Amino acid sequence: MSELPTCRELYEFLGDYHAGELDPLRASAFERHLSLCPSCRVYVDSYRRTVELEKEAFDDAALPPPPEELVEAILAIRRPA
Ligand SMILES: [Zn+2]
Repeated sequence: MSELPTCRELYEFLGDYHAGELDPLRASAFERHLSLCPSCRVYVDSYRRTVELEKEAFDDAALPPPPEELVEAILAIRRPA
């Protein structure tokens, strides 16, 4: 059982785990910890939900960048003469 990551390590791995970039050994230790630790399960759940929400928000806000001329015009207005 000494190979189980601590809760802190689990938090540190979470981003990589979620991105599927955790090596298989760590990923299985991660999942083992999750199966034994309800508070980390809650944490991972809320992390996933946050990532999903951010993704949706990003999709909604997926506007093209403003045209260069517009940026230049705005900057020109704001620039003191
Ligand atoms: Zn934990």
